[in-house]
Amino acid sequence: MSRDPRYDVLFEPVRIGPVTARNRFYQVPHCNGMGRLHPTSMAVMRGVKAEGGWAVVSTEQCDIHPTTETAREVRLWDERDIPTLARMTELVHRHGSLASIELTHMGYHASNLTSREVPMAPSARPVDGIHPIHARAMTRADIADYRRWHRRAAMNAKTAGFDIVCVYAAHDLSLLMHFLSPRHNHRSDEYGGSMENRARLLREVIEDTKEAVGDTMGVVVRFAVDELMGERGILAEREGREVLEMLGELPDLWDVNCSDWDNDSITARFSEEGFQEPYTRFVKRFTSKPVVGVGRYTSPDRMVSLIRKGVLDMIGAARPSIADPFLPKKIEEGRIEDIRECIGCNICVSGDNLGAPMRCTQNPTKGEEWRKGWHPERIPARAGDERVLVVGAGPAGLEAARALGQRGYEVTLAEAGTELGGRVALESRLPGLAAWGRVRDWRVSQLHKLPNVEVYRASRLDAAQVRETGCPLVAIATGSTWRRDGAGRHHDHPMPGALERPDRVRTPDDIMRGAAVESPVVIFDDDHYYMGGVIAEKLAAEGHDVALVTPQSLVSAWTTFTLELRRIQVRMREAGVNVIANHAVSALGDASVTIEPEYGGDPFERACATLVLVTASLAADALYHALMEDEAALAQAGIRRVTRIGDCLAPGTIAAAVYGGHRYARELGEARPDAMPYRRELVELGADFTMP
Ligand code: ADP
Ligand code: SF4
Repeated sequence: MSRDPRYDVLFEPVRIGPVTARNRFYQVPHCNGMGRLHPTSMAVMRGVKAEGGWAVVSTEQCDIHPTTETAREVRLWDERDIPTLARMTELVHRHGSLASIELTHMGYHASNLTSREVPMAPSARPVDGIHPIHARAMTRADIADYRRWHRRAAMNAKTAGFDIVCVYAAHDLSLLMHFLSPRHNHRSDEYGGSMENRARLLREVIEDTKEAVGDTMGVVVRFAVDELMGERGILAEREGREVLEMLGELPDLWDVNCSDWDNDSITARFSEEGFQEPYTRFVKRFTSKPVVGVGRYTSPDRMVSLIRKGVLDMIGAARPSIADPFLPKKIEEGRIEDIRECIGCNICVSGDNLGAPMRCTQNPTKGEEWRKGWHPERIPARAGDERVLVVGAGPAGLEAARALGQRGYEVTLAEAGTELGGRVALESRLPGLAAWGRVRDWRVSQLHKLPNVEVYRASRLDAAQVRETGCPLVAIATGSTWRRDGAGRHHDHPMPGALERPDRVRTPDDIMRGAAVESPVVIFDDDHYYMGGVIAEKLAAEGHDVALVTPQSLVSAWTTFTLELRRIQVRMREAGVNVIANHAVSALGDASVTIEPEYGGDPFERACATLVLVTASLAADALYHALMEDEAALAQAGIRRVTRIGDCLAPGTIAAAVYGGHRYARELGEARPDAMPYRRELVELGADFTMP
């Protein structure tokens, strides 16, 4: 297939100073939880993006000095860091793309827990977050030092093979942005006060970088035009415009976005594709240099219209390039329907925030490119000619059937319901989660192209029926169900009253299937991811009187890792949900619940007609155990292996279910009982280990 001519414009080259991007697809810097701790994983992951057609492939933020230290992102403190980064540039160049490096000093955002260097900022203040550490105000000598470190890092980046240096002034994560910000910059010297003064350091650093490496490298500025916090923060129509007016022609390209990270990477629950456009579309009026912007763009028509309307020159992407590293190539090859669209869930972000290699709900190979050798598009041909039965068409079953089909196995996929998608079909109908349906949609559309996969709906199989299929390999992907008894983290055993009053208890499964609810409703959220909060939002929108009780101090506490925590608290308030934090529901009575404080104090009663228990799930593994119980029948039916995958093995995230399905398909036929599950990189031991 060939490219639709209406997308030709996306494949025009773009000059970025002395270098030229081969098309308009620009993978903006993004954290990945691998960085310098898993350097080859990071490098190969970036190389795969270049292979997938991204003309510019960037690092995540790259620390330039011990006074700005993050836990795992890449660094370029001195020459010793060059080989790690050179591995990435080599792989990016192999596929004809440009490698970009985002040089960073995090200012008051760096706590420097390992280096123990005192953080530095335009003005003295506590570091961001809750660490008991202060940043000190930079002197003129500090500013001169910083400029020298940045220049040295730029030159080392050139040695490492980079084509572009990104000067970073975004996300509130960068000293340069801190100087621009009236919130953070309280200086009275020539670096503070007027906008011109606050932009002085940015101007100097752009000029330093151009002078040091600008003859051969593109110099890009990544700039947050708005902080979405009104008058207090940077505003597009104030600082955004003024900085562009002053410095618009200085760099070779502007990469613009909204700050901070949870505004730049808003989840689909709280934003649509293109959500940043109203803030960034003014930028091109103030510069003749190419402009890159982001907004979770996955639709090529939308991308074309952005270029044609003169909003952007290059389509920036972090998450869409994670969910589908081959997005540009698929457009180029006329395979639009093969694009695996990001669902905007931020599981990728959670990996980095948790210090683990990035995971992606849509792309189970993310982070596994090198350590497991999983390519997002290619998969080894089948290892045998056995037929495989997959029972259950949720995310695990769909992905297993798809990937097995891609390997060339003959696959039968049986689903009890009339609808495919399992939990994703249900959850995507909850408020704000419609985009999650893409997990199902992409897999179903891929299955349609595989003649070797047969899909049967309305086919609830029991053990005898599984045996009758005659498939020697069976994957059980029958999912999980939410518990009805309130047991979970807070209650080790069933909550008193829950099992005795089943007519008054609902689970998320019941709510999603439309079960009746009576006010007043009490939700006991002992799960702490999205489900409790989303159900509260849904029931409140339906007019119910809703209280959410959680032992945590905030609703949906885990969403701090997906950058949703703040917006969820706001939404609870706006929806009129009565949040009772730091408490647990200890018992269900006849017309009320008993609520007990987590940290001492007296329990109290609250009126409750319906109690929604969001505590824990149970694997729906009855079919698996029924099969395994009768080994003789299995053998007689010629079944060699029965495997549980996804939530049926252990309930978890949708990302974990997709991964479980993919892993089953990938590893089928591999005999490696005691092998390590992935390749590791070990630290280089210090040469000198004498006692001090
Ligand atoms: P996962 O997240 O692990 O994929 P889900 O709960 O989303 O799990 O999906 C499980 C799917 O399995 C559901 O669509 C359910 O209807 C289906 N299912 C459960 N039991 C059977 C069965 N015995 N036969 C066929 N399908 C089943
Ligand atoms: Fe998109 Fe979710 Fe994948 Fe991140 S984890 S790239 S948000 S689908």
